[in-house]
This record gives sequence, structure tokens and C-alpha cells, in this order.
Amino acid sequence: MNILQQRVRAVGVAPRYGTTIATVDQLKGYDLVVAADGLNSLVRRSFEQEFGASVSHSTNKFAWYGTPKRFETLSQTFVKTEIGAFNAHHYRYSPGMSTFLVECDAATWQAYGFEHKTIEASQAICEQVFAESLEGHPLVSNKSVWRNFPWIWNENWSHGNMVLIGDALHSAHFSIGSGTRLAIEDAIALTRALEAEADIASSLARYQAERKPIVKKLVTAARTSADWYEHFAEHMKLDLMDFAYSYITRSGRIDDARLRAMSPLFMARYEAARSKA
Ligand SMILES: Cc1cc2nc3c(=O)[nH]c(=O)nc-3n(C[C@H](O)[C@H](O)[C@H](O)COP(=O)(O)OP(=O)(O)OC[C@H]3O[C@@H](n4cnc5c(N)ncnc54)[C@H](O)[C@@H]3O)c2cc1C
Repeated sequence: MNILQQRVRAVGVAPRYGTTIATVDQLKGYDLVVAADGLNSLVRRSFEQEFGASVSHSTNKFAWYGTPKRFETLSQTFVKTEIGAFNAHHYRYSPGMSTFLVECDAATWQAYGFEHKTIEASQAICEQVFAESLEGHPLVSNKSVWRNFPWIWNENWSHGNMVLIGDALHSAHFSIGSGTRLAIEDAIALTRALEAEADIASSLARYQAERKPIVKKLVTAARTSADWYEHFAEHMKLDLMDFAYSYITRSGRIDDARLRAMSPLFMARYEAARSKA
């Protein structure tokens, strides 16, 4: 955020913070409106039909926490309890803090009665479930309510002089963790399209034509990955090596040849386990 804010000032833009746009009427009179207003985009919601917008939700539940426990790399814990199955995605985001995202399927969520539990009570249960991974560290809540992941897509990326970028345009599942990168790359693609064309309409057409196939590929991989998570409790019944293989290849972007090149030791262990089975 600091880098972006410095950059904005360096190119002569005067940002206005803490200013909510309540209606799209406030956006009249501009050459171009770049709607980078996030998952709940007002601009998208105001022109759902024109953008060909669709919103759906995953059935799994997730709650997003922090923790002072240091996870050096992106890693994952799967836990089976007597009542259900959980997994946590964890990775460090600052020298002393990690993200700790807890996920469970709808059946587990219901069995634990999370619907009727306070944020604090849910957090206490998650701390208990993941006690071994947390090694005595607490979870840190930031209004960490249980949510269903929203899938957002728009067939048309612009309407008139309004154009969508980032989460307003598409969501990317946290299991592939590319939301920020995608948003920034959208902005870069839009800038290039504006530089390449003489008028706004042609620029917006070029932005969609060039960027949409790239994003579609990533979003499709994210969907496949999220589908794997929708059935993670089933996958946990696999033998360890089969489970690991199923996890690594879940988005359909890594085949055996690529895995062998990336991770020959893993592949050797996996193939040895398979030949014994
Ligand atoms: C808890 C959490 C952790 C995440 N961790 C990661 C991660 O580790 N890596 C990763 O790549 N992605 C992560 N993501 C996803 C990532 O944050 C988003 O994909 C990314 O921020 C999208 O950027 P954006 O600019 O499109 O939208 P946002 O960052 O959501 O920005 C939208 C902005 O628009 C403003 N806004 C909205 N409506 C209005 C309005 N009507 N008027 C004025 N302003 C408005 C909002 O206040 C906000 O500042 C995480 C998301 C969450 C919720």
C-alpha cells in the first residue's frame, strides 16, 4: 500500500481517502471510470446485466485469522476430529505474523453448531483443533466471521466509460492466492491498452480481448482447485502419498512430467508407494 501510495503521488494523482461513492451518479463527467471497488463493487452491482455479472458461492465455510506463529512458507494442515474435518492454509505475511485461514465443509460447520457461536467461541474451537500446528500461539481475529467464498465473474469488462478491474471483476480462490497479483496485472493490462489505442472505447475493447483469456485460465484453475477443497474430507481418506499427490495436482496445471522435474524426490516416493500398493 505504501509503495502504491508513493507511486500515485509521484505521477501527480491526488488521492482522496475515506470518501464513499454512494451512487454511480457521482461518477458522471469523467472520461474514464476505473472501478477497482472490490468484491462488493457498487459499479458492478449497478450494471449487473450490462456487465453480464454472475455471483455464486462455494459450500465450504472459511474464517480468516492471523497468528504470531511463524510459518516460513505457504503450508497447509488437515485435521480430522471426531465431529468433522478442517484444513488451514497458513503463510507468513510479516516478520512476526502469519495468515491462518481455517476451512471446513458445510457438514462439519453444522455439526459444530458454528452458526450459533460467537466469533470468540468459534476462534477457541479453531485454536483447539489446530493446537498442534499453532504450538501454543493464539489465533488473532479481525472480525473473523465464517463466510462462503464468493465467485465473481463478468462476461463484459466495461460498460460505457466504466471498466472493472481486480476483485470487482473476478474473484480468485484463496487456495491459489493470487488476488492481489491479478488485480495489479489487470491495472497494467488496462494501462497498456490505453496507451496502445487512440480512444477510450477501443482501449477498453483491447483490454478485454487481451486480458480476458489470461484471467479465464487462472480462474478456471482456481475453480478446479476450489472443487478439490469442496471434497477435501473425502480426499483425507486416501493413503498419505496418494493424498499428497492428489493435493499437488488439484488445479490440473501440474502433470507427472512437471512434478518429476520440480520435485524428483517426492515423485520417487510417490511412485514407490504406488508400486507397493
Ligand atoms: C483477509 C484477506 C487476506 C488476503 N490475503 C491475500 C494474499 O495473501 N495474497 C493475495 O494475493 N490476495 C489476498 N487476498 C485477496 C486480495 O486482498 C484481493 O484479491 C485484492 O485486495 C483485490 O484488490 P482490489 O483492489 O481489486 O480490491 P480491494 O483491495 O478490495 O480494494 C477495493 C477498495 O475499494 C474501496 N471501495 C469499495 N467500495 C467503495 C465505494 N462505494 N466508495 C469508495 N470506495 C470503495 C474499498 O474500501 C477498498 O479500498 C486476501 C483477502 C482477504 C479478505
